[in-house]
Amino acid sequence: MLILDTTLRDGEQTPGLSLTPEKKLMIARKLDEVGVNIIEAGSACTSAGERAAIKVIANEGLKAEIASFARILPADVQAALDADVNRVCLVAPASDLHISQKLKKTREQVLELTAKCIELAKSGGAKTELLAEDGSRTATGELLVHFSNGISAGADRVCVCDTVGVLNPEATSEMFTALVKKLKVPVAFHGHNDFGLAVANSLAAYRAGAGELHCTVNGLGERAGNAPLEEIALVLNYFYGVKTIELTKLYELSRLVETLTGIRSGNNKPLVGANAFTHESGIHVDGILKCASTYEPVSPEMIGRVRRFSFGKHSGRQGLKLRAKELGVELNEEQLAKVAEKVKELGDKGREVSDAELQVILMDVLGSPNKPRIRLDEMVAVTGSSVVPTASVKVTMNDITYTMSGTGDGPVDAALNAIEAIVGNKGISLSEYAVDAITGGSDALVHVRVKLKMGDKEVSSASAGTDIVVTSVQAVLKGINLLI
Ligand SMILES: [Zn+2]
Repeated sequence: MLILDTTLRDGEQTPGLSLTPEKKLMIARKLDEVGVNIIEAGSACTSAGERAAIKVIANEGLKAEIASFARILPADVQAALDADVNRVCLVAPASDLHISQKLKKTREQVLELTAKCIELAKSGGAKTELLAEDGSRTATGELLVHFSNGISAGADRVCVCDTVGVLNPEATSEMFTALVKKLKVPVAFHGHNDFGLAVANSLAAYRAGAGELHCTVNGLGERAGNAPLEEIALVLNYFYGVKTIELTKLYELSRLVETLTGIRSGNNKPLVGANAFTHESGIHVDGILKCASTYEPVSPEMIGRVRRFSFGKHSGRQGLKLRAKELGVELNEEQLAKVAEKVKELGDKGREVSDAELQVILMDVLGSPNKPRIRLDEMVAVTGSSVVPTASVKVTMNDITYTMSGTGDGPVDAALNAIEAIVGNKGISLSEYAVDAITGGSDALVHVRVKLKMGDKEVSSASAGTDIVVTSVQAVLKGINLLI
């Protein structure tokens, strides 16, 4: 099974995308490295710059065949030849709709021009793949005439384009069975994903005897895109044992294209999306830890990825325990319960907990005394543009409950003043106060670090949370616990 990658031509037709020659070359090298058979490097007729970019790729000494797209215009074919490609992908409209409405020509004129262009490519030393544009909306009899005409002129491969993605697997199968039986050259399929059927149709084409499949990395392309290379390669291997390209480099290739095009794949995109091998729910993580295939169709390593556990409101304790261990911390059951509670607290706010945040939570939990002598029961802070920031706190210290309020230069200062008023007679003072936001955004997890002094004794403590006022009070109370 041959793979033609058209990321650099059809993929580049993704709205808003334009690749510089340097980027095109980087992608072409990677496509060659993973073992794509044909790289459609662009459309030489587009501009002098595009022609130059294709020429550089064509002269790079890659193993893959390098192709340029061309319409049935001798000037287009000449531009492809000038770019030194060894293959021309000649696209000729095949449906009545495209021939009459777009081209405003007759079928006979199209056949004549097609033959002329193929002969020109041949005389210039390039092979031709003849593409039937809108082939999926063309009667099979017409397609046979279209292709036979091209093959007589010298085309050594032909291709049905499902230009607007309207085929279904049954129709694809029927069409390919008929074409493959009658034609003596490999028949390719070029699928678009308008109905989400590009991969299913490509598989149907393969089952019915197609010899080549067209695709793009990450499924880039116009509208809903083309058949994604990574899915085609993996499903051919998974269901039919067909080897095409080097699967273990697929993720690397996908990332490179994402980085260079700036077009992000959706998180839930099969195989290469951020969540494709990420597990959050406790039940799944527990299953994965016992046996990975419980909740994964294939191992992430198969396409060069690694499994990821994410932590949020569905997190279970086993996954957290394992991640903490990977971060260097062995948690006992009591500590694990506290960590899980904090993670769920963040998760309930619709957040995914990052490693940096988990580290802060671990630090927070590990630094907490088991039986605090002073603890926060309640707290209210009021602030605004024309009020004096005020805070009321209720704390229990040595089994006695104290309520106190304070004012200050903001809600944190007010709350800390109220705490100070409660413990004031113990001579405790705040000597240092610092806040770090662990993640961006107004819902960031904050890490508050404080230093407290009592006489000549000084302690540091810290706390993490999403509410800066409460977290500050917790950090101070934690320090007080170390002092009294
Ligand atoms: Zn296309």
